[in-house]
Amino acid sequence: MSVIYEPRGRAREYAPLACNLYVGCAHGCTYCWAAAFAVKQGLVQSRAEFHASPRPRLGVLKNFAREAEALGAAKDQRPVQLCFTTDPCQPIEAEHHLTRDALRIMAENGLRAQVLTKGDAAGLGTINKLAWRPDNLFGASLCSLGGEGLEEWEPGAISPVRRVAGLAKAKDLGLTTWVSLEPTIWPARSLNLIRVLDERVDCFAVGKLNYGQPPEPVNWAEYREAAVALLEAQGRERVHSPGDTRPGERTYLIKHDLEAA
Ligand code: SF4
Repeated sequence: MSVIYEPRGRAREYAPLACNLYVGCAHGCTYCWAAAFAVKQGLVQSRAEFHASPRPRLGVLKNFAREAEALGAAKDQRPVQLCFTTDPCQPIEAEHHLTRDALRIMAENGLRAQVLTKGDAAGLGTINKLAWRPDNLFGASLCSLGGEGLEEWEPGAISPVRRVAGLAKAKDLGLTTWVSLEPTIWPARSLNLIRVLDERVDCFAVGKLNYGQPPEPVNWAEYREAAVALLEAQGRERVHSPGDTRPGERTYLIKHDLEAA
């Protein structure tokens, strides 16, 4: 089985190709669907183990290098997202540096990279490793700039302020930046993120909360309409995937499940 794969279903909206470098994730988000998926796949015994004992995926870099070489030889320019079922910049990256090495391999083979994280991408050197081509995408996942209740939902992630600092650094380096507003837990806070981060973010991806109950009932259709109005007022064009965004463009996407809500 390939380690660089074509995501299916909802994940496909984020990127046409992806690779999961670790098994498990220390960020411990309560809405994490990847933990339930890993249990179902038999990769871990429980959600608790998924969050408590993340580990490198066995032999992943060797296969990654071989597959990246083949994609490079085929001149495949579809972005490869790191990662879907784990966070590429969680604390064990400091020890194992799989993300750093995967980005080096991608650069050697001329591949376009896309990162999505709630971790310390600046401190771990991930953002610098992306900076060799401006259409590489650096993304942060955010559901609030702070405030009550956030730590209960994302107990191990770095603070939103630090995630925003990562976006600013990526922007300063000339990278294409994006923010995943999925999940949305507090619609007003997500709309505020769109306002506050307008200058720093090239593409916003807006979704709903699919795994867990929001603290207050949400009218998803109203939220979607408010988000679209705001994003259009910012002069953004609607796209199907963050990777459709080219350097200098301002875009957004509405995830299918929010569109259908
Ligand atoms: S950062 Fe992503 S993979 Fe990690 S616990 Fe949170 S939702 Fe799951």
